[in-house]
Amino acid sequence: MGSANDIPVELVEEIRGKALHAPRPRALTPEQRDALIQRIRDLLKANNAVLITHYYVDEQLQILTDATGGYVGDSLGMADYGNRHEATTLVVIGVRFMGETAKILNPEKRVLMPDLGAECSLDLSCPIEAFSAFCDQHPDRTVVVYTNTSAEVKARADWVVTSSNAVDIVAHLHANGEKIIFAPDRHLGRYVQQKTGADILNWQGFCVVHDEFKASELRRLMAEYPEAELIAHPESPAEVLDMASVVGSTTQLIRAAKESRADTLIVATDMGIFHKMHEAAPDKQLLAVPTGGESATCVSCAHCPWMAMNSLDNLAAVLEDGSGHEIHIDETVRRKALVPIERMLEFSRAQGKV
Ligand code: SF4
Repeated sequence: MGSANDIPVELVEEIRGKALHAPRPRALTPEQRDALIQRIRDLLKANNAVLITHYYVDEQLQILTDATGGYVGDSLGMADYGNRHEATTLVVIGVRFMGETAKILNPEKRVLMPDLGAECSLDLSCPIEAFSAFCDQHPDRTVVVYTNTSAEVKARADWVVTSSNAVDIVAHLHANGEKIIFAPDRHLGRYVQQKTGADILNWQGFCVVHDEFKASELRRLMAEYPEAELIAHPESPAEVLDMASVVGSTTQLIRAAKESRADTLIVATDMGIFHKMHEAAPDKQLLAVPTGGESATCVSCAHCPWMAMNSLDNLAAVLEDGSGHEIHIDETVRRKALVPIERMLEFSRAQGKV
């Protein structure tokens, strides 16, 4: 497997700085929380809107989404659900590329997000100019990008994948004799290469959450809980994945937690997933993979700083007045980006995965 150049140090520092300074929502009293929930329920009806929410956001938002008939899931499920639901306004509670994907698939609908500043370090570590120039240098390769990318990067791609289907899609391309550029997550790219044997040039982007999981600290935790089972998201470093008994997307990890015979699970992904995992496997003890040594600091501490920007406060505000919170995408870019997303959805539907 080959790799693209490392991400420039200045860009890495800029991304870490953004993660560290992402604004945190205020703490709510029970009365404030209940009042906001009632207001949001009323506003959803008034706006003919539905909530489409990622597993990594605050559990109150996940509970409210379920209670109002919306959808809580991973990126693949979110894209598919928004595409099928009849609401005229989709409120995407996650990070920006998720709102963009919803808009690419649903140009006729209004797509709102509680905070358009909720970004993703994978998206940020794959700027369109550098990525497009890299693709131009390798015109013989099929361009496969993870869904955690901008609309412009998707528009440059032949295929979009999520962690639910990346291995299957790359295996399919490899069987057709295609050589691949994979972007932007270096750990997922390495994992996919290992699973498929495909010829991959791997972009070197990173997730601030999964990149911080530390194998040395994990070994200590596993020694402390020798009966525990480790389940991991493929954005985690190779040393962590090598120790895991299950590697999969967020949805696949929730299923694995339910089916596991172990009483204790060590979970290598964002802690926001614990809400749905507890629902699926209420009797199991869930432990987060450590993010650093005893004296280390972490940027994310196992919870995405941009996912954490979503709150009941800014959700209510966006439903009151969506201006400044709506996703807009250039129509030429949108049409181009739609092609690889639809290719992915058709592939996954044919496999019965969505
Ligand atoms: S957890 Fe990582 S991959 Fe997911 S949105 Fe946050 S930075 Fe991006």
